[in-house]
Amino acid sequence: MDFFGFLNDSVTPCHTVKSLHEAFGRAGFKSVGIDDVSKMAPGESFFVERGSALVAVRMPKKNGAESRFKLALAHVDFPALKVAPNPDKNAAGVQKLHTEVYGSPLYTSWLDRDLGYAGILAVKKEGSIVAKPFRGKKLFRIPQLAVHLNRGVNQDGLKVNPQTDFDVLWKAAGCGSQNFRDALAQELAPGEELLDFDVQFFDAQPANAGGMNDEWVYSGRIDNLTSCHAIAEALIATEACEKDFAVAAFFNNEEVGSLSRTGAGGNFLKAVLESIPLPSNLSAALSDSFALSIDVAHATHPNSPEKHEPNHAPVLGGGVVLKTNSQNRYAGDVLGSARLRDLCARAEVPLQDFVMRNDMACGSTVGPTVSAMLGIPTVDIGEPILSMHSIREMMAIKDHESMIRLVSAFFC
Ligand SMILES: [Zn+2]
Repeated sequence: MDFFGFLNDSVTPCHTVKSLHEAFGRAGFKSVGIDDVSKMAPGESFFVERGSALVAVRMPKKNGAESRFKLALAHVDFPALKVAPNPDKNAAGVQKLHTEVYGSPLYTSWLDRDLGYAGILAVKKEGSIVAKPFRGKKLFRIPQLAVHLNRGVNQDGLKVNPQTDFDVLWKAAGCGSQNFRDALAQELAPGEELLDFDVQFFDAQPANAGGMNDEWVYSGRIDNLTSCHAIAEALIATEACEKDFAVAAFFNNEEVGSLSRTGAGGNFLKAVLESIPLPSNLSAALSDSFALSIDVAHATHPNSPEKHEPNHAPVLGGGVVLKTNSQNRYAGDVLGSARLRDLCARAEVPLQDFVMRNDMACGSTVGPTVSAMLGIPTVDIGEPILSMHSIREMMAIKDHESMIRLVSAFFC
């Protein structure tokens, strides 16, 4: 699956899952409902979807009492501005759209960017209500105030009030009488009626290679599309194991705490695993299995190296990062870390250690949630990136190759 194409196509959680659906479908994985999981035979590969979440499984050739699970986890969502239910506003000759902040974007990065819009249209068709993925073709913007009207901004920094400063300029007022909902309705086919929408803005600039040797990638949504891509690539390239299940789980809503029916705090993954025919006890098998929770890590910023703990300061291009945290913000324990170090050595993947400075708050991932819920030993790892949660982030292509090699070695 082309990495840049994946970054460019996956502009909302729903579109990420659509990209994954297509990639697994092309690779011969069967798209099944959860009811059909129990009918899957040894050696078969399948995936199940629940809204904007997806679980893909390669069954082992022999499904026996010794079968264990190799689980790779990632999230499909990213910080964004979502169009509010009643978004239309007018000001200074412009019709604009009120947005709600999703997750924790780096606010200033959303200004003066070309924004696309996409999401899900909830449509009534022949009596039933269906979700229709949608991606608009137009571009929009949230302009910054000119420096002349915001004297001191270069000295004091730009302060963004997300209530008043995140209305997106949509069209010239009086240029047609449409409101936002009417405009979306034009996307429908005959016989379809728009009942609701879930639409968000995204960075419309395509992913680019950068650096003198094209060693870097500049793109929106690197957190966490890079992990989704690495996991999908590895699982697709892996043959069915002799006795172990290779499982990839892609969750929504990590950026807002994971507690939803499509998030890691929901029962989706557990429901899929419980549906797999297993001759042994699932909990016992899981407690003797292993999961990689894969999410991006903070690379050391070359202009601000003091923001990292000096002995635990991963660098761009330095390899996969093992993230540990004494407050359990990341999943893991000493045996999990040891197992990962061993795996990296065997796969010839360079490994860097990250711990957060004690005087700074640490982020989290889906790792602790899934590990606690399933009782599966788990470690948190990721590719180092810069500008995390900016509308455009930056990573090293070498680290992505390392991650794909590591997850491939893990699965087989
Ligand atoms: Zn993330």
